[in-house]
Amino acid sequence: QAAAGDLDRHVVELDRAHVFHSWSAQGALAPMVVAGGLGCRVWDHAGREWLDFSSQLVNVNIGHQHPRLVAAIQEQAALLTTISPPTANLARGEAAKRIVDRAPDGMNKVFFTNGGADANENAIRMARQFTGRDKVVSTYRSYHGNTGAAVVATGDWRRVPNEYARAHVHVFGPFLYRSEFWASTPEEECERALRHLARVIECEGPASVAAILLETVPGTAGVLVPPPGYLAGVRELADKHGIMLILDEVMAGFGRTGDWFAFDAHDVVPDLITFAKGVNSGYIPAGGVVISDPIAAHFDDVVYPGGLTYSGHPLAMASIVASMDIMADEGIVENAARIGRDVLGPGLAELAERQPLIGEVRGRGVFWALDLVADPETREPVAPAVMGRAKALMLERGLLPFLADNRIHVVPPCVVTDDEAGTALAVYDEAFTLLTKELA
Ligand code: PLP
Repeated sequence: QAAAGDLDRHVVELDRAHVFHSWSAQGALAPMVVAGGLGCRVWDHAGREWLDFSSQLVNVNIGHQHPRLVAAIQEQAALLTTISPPTANLARGEAAKRIVDRAPDGMNKVFFTNGGADANENAIRMARQFTGRDKVVSTYRSYHGNTGAAVVATGDWRRVPNEYARAHVHVFGPFLYRSEFWASTPEEECERALRHLARVIECEGPASVAAILLETVPGTAGVLVPPPGYLAGVRELADKHGIMLILDEVMAGFGRTGDWFAFDAHDVVPDLITFAKGVNSGYIPAGGVVISDPIAAHFDDVVYPGGLTYSGHPLAMASIVASMDIMADEGIVENAARIGRDVLGPGLAELAERQPLIGEVRGRGVFWALDLVADPETREPVAPAVMGRAKALMLERGLLPFLADNRIHVVPPCVVTDDEAGTALAVYDEAFTLLTKELA
C-alpha cells in the first residue's frame, strides 16, 4: 500500500515537473492520478476508486476498458498499425459505412480527423468552399475546439485570447432559465431566439454567411437542450439564404442524449455533422465530418484543400467499427435513454426539490446539468469556491464529478447501471446537504 502511495506521488511529481496542461495556469495544479479503470469506475495506484460521473471529458460513452473494444484495437495493431490517407483500407471503409448508416439519408461520405476541433475546422472549410462565402454564425454559449476556426467559432471565454481570425459572428441561442430575451415560456424563447438569429444574419448580409454552426445540445455551456422547433427554425433560415447548417455532435452524439445523433430527437437534417468523442469513446483519438451528397459531389471535380497524416488511422478506424457494433449489440444507446428517462431524470428532479442549491435540472439520456445558485429567486450562480468545495466533498465520497462554471454536469458513461446511478444520486444529495449547512 505504501509503495503504491509512493507511486501515486511519483506520478504527480513527474507530471508537475514536465507536463504542461490544457486551459490552466500551471502553478497551482494538483492533478488526480488515474492508474486504471473498468466500466464506470477509475482508480489510482493505491487502489482508491471513484465512480466516473464525468466520462473524463464526456467522451467515454462505452465505459472504461470495454474488453471487446480493447481486443479489436489489439487485433488491428497486430494486422496494420498505420497507413497513409490516400490508400483504401478495410477498417476505414467499414468505419465510414457504420457512421453513414446511422446518419440521415443523403449523407454518404465521411472525412476523418484526429478529434473534434479539426472536425469543425474541416466542416467550416467545406462550407466555405461549397458556398464561396466566409462568415460563420455560432453561439456565445458553445465550445467547438482548440484550433484556428474552431476556437474562434467557440463562444465561451476560450475564444477571446485566440481571436485573430475574422468572419465569425456570434448570437445567443435559446436558454430559458437564463433567457437573454425576457422570455417566460419555451415557445417565447424559441421564437425570440430565432428572430434574433434572423436579424443578425440580415445585418451581416446573408450572402456572406457560409455556415451556421451549432452544437445540437450545447454541452460544456450547460447542457442546453433546445426547445421544440428551434433547430427546425434554424434549418428554415439556412435554407432561405443558402447557408450550410453544421451540427456539432462531438459531445452530444453517439448515445449521450439517448439517441445515436442528438438531432434524431429534433426535426432537422444538417448539411454537415461533426463528431468525435463518443464515436469510439476516445480509446484512440478520432473525429470526422459526415458530408451531405451535394457538398460531397461538389468535391468530385474540385480539389478539397484539406488533409491530415492520420486521417482514417487504422487503429482509430478499427476502434470505431468495434465501438459502434458493441453499442448496437449491447443496447448501450437504449440504456442511456432509459437511465435518463427512468432513473437520472426523476432522481435529479427529486434532488432539486430538496436541495435549494440546485436552481435548475436540465438534460436527457446521460447528459444532465445541475445549475447551482446562491439564491433561487435571483438565480445568481454560486461562487467558484463553492464549486471547489462541492467537488472535494464528492471526491471524498468516491464520485468523480464534472464541473463547468457554476454547474455539475451529470454525465456518466452510457453503460451506467441503475445501481451506479443510485449511488451517484446519494453522493450528490449528501454533498449538497453538507454544503448547504457549511454555507448557512
Ligand atoms: N465540439 C464540442 C461540442 C466539444 O465538446 C469539443 C470538446 O470538448 C470539441 C468540439 C473539440 O473536440 P476535441 O477536444 O476532440 O478537439
